[in-house]
Amino acid sequence: MKYLDEYRDRALAHNLLREIERTVTRDWTIMEVCGGQTHSIVKHGIDRLLPPQIDLVHGPGCPVCVTALEMIDRAHAVASRPDVIFCSYGDMLRVPGSTHDLFHLRSRGADIRIVYSPLDCLTLAKRYPDRHVVFFAIGFETTAPANAMAVWQAKQLDVKNFSLLVSHVRVPPAVTSILQSPSNRVQGFLGPGHVCTVVGYREYEAISTLYHVPIVVTGFEPIDILEGVLMVVRQLEAGRATVENQYSRVVSRKGNGPGQDLIAQVFEICDQKWRGIGTIPKSGYKLRSEFKEYDADRIFDLEAVEVRESTQCISGQILKGIRKPPDCPAFGTTCTPRSPLGATMVSSEGACAAYYQYGRRRELVHR
Ligand code: SF4
Repeated sequence: MKYLDEYRDRALAHNLLREIERTVTRDWTIMEVCGGQTHSIVKHGIDRLLPPQIDLVHGPGCPVCVTALEMIDRAHAVASRPDVIFCSYGDMLRVPGSTHDLFHLRSRGADIRIVYSPLDCLTLAKRYPDRHVVFFAIGFETTAPANAMAVWQAKQLDVKNFSLLVSHVRVPPAVTSILQSPSNRVQGFLGPGHVCTVVGYREYEAISTLYHVPIVVTGFEPIDILEGVLMVVRQLEAGRATVENQYSRVVSRKGNGPGQDLIAQVFEICDQKWRGIGTIPKSGYKLRSEFKEYDADRIFDLEAVEVRESTQCISGQILKGIRKPPDCPAFGTTCTPRSPLGATMVSSEGACAAYYQYGRRRELVHR
C-alpha cells in the first residue's frame, strides 16, 4: 500500500538499525511523546531491536489517558441527566471514573452515543430539538480544529441545544513540565507528528534551545520511528540540540494555518489539569467568552466534583517517562483491558494497553 509499505520495509529498517548502532557511543534516554508512536514501538518490537544504550520511555501523548478524573466524573454527571444525549469518541466510554465508566451508565439507561465527529452532534441536535446534545471534546491540538468547527457552525446555524464539555490539552507545556521536573531523565524527544500537522513545530524550537534538548518531529510507522531515533542520537552524540522534522511528508514548520485560525477564533489558552500529572500552566484550551453558550461546564453548573483515584495506579509516572508499565504491580494482574484501573490501560494509545496487547505481560509470568 502506497505510503505505508515503504515505511515498513525490512531492509530499510535493518540499514537504519545498523546506522544507529554505528552512531551511538553511550547511554541515552529518549521519549516518544505520542501514544501512537508507543504502540508502533511495542507492536513492532523496536525498543528491543535498538542497541542497549538507547532507552525509549513513553510520553504523555495519549489524550484519553491524560483527561483528568474530575472531567470524567463531570462527564458522568452530565450524561446521567435524562434531558441529555451525551456523545463521545468510543475510547472514552471505557475510561474509569471515580466509581464507574460511561458504559456502565449507558447500561443503566443513560443516552450515551459514540460518534466519529463532533459535527455528527449538530445533526443529532437538529433531530432532537427537545434534548440537549453534549459532545465530550477531549484531545490534543489535533482534534481542536474539528471541535472548534462544530461550535462555530452551531453559532452560524443558531443551534441552541448543543454544547461541548471541553478538556483539551496542549503538548508543548507538557514537554516543558517534563524537562523542568527534578526527576526528569529524558535527553531527547521524538516529537508529536499528528499534533505538529496542525500547529507546526515553531513552539518546540524555543523549548529545544532553552533546555538544550533535541526534538525530532516523527511519524508513526517503524521506518519513521527508527529514522527519528537516528536523528535524535546523531544530535545527542554531536552535542547539538535543535528541532528537526522527520515527518516532512505531513508536517511543515508553520502547520495548518486555517486550522490554527479556527482554534484561535473559538478557544483560548488556559491552565489544565492532566490525569496523573497535575495542573500544567497554559496547557489547555477553553471556549472563549463569545462562545460561552456552548460551554457544557457553564450550562450544567459543574463545579466541585470530588474524585477518587486508584491507589495502585502509577500511570502518572509512566506518562512522565519515569517508569514503564511492567513496573506497576497491578499490570496484567488486577489491571487488564477488561478491568482497567487507570486510563493508560484503556486507551488504544495508552502505554499499559500497548504492553498488554503485544504480549509483554507474558514476560511477567516468566520473570
Ligand atoms: S497497569 Fe493499570 S494500574 Fe498500573 S499504571 Fe497501568 S493503568 Fe495504572
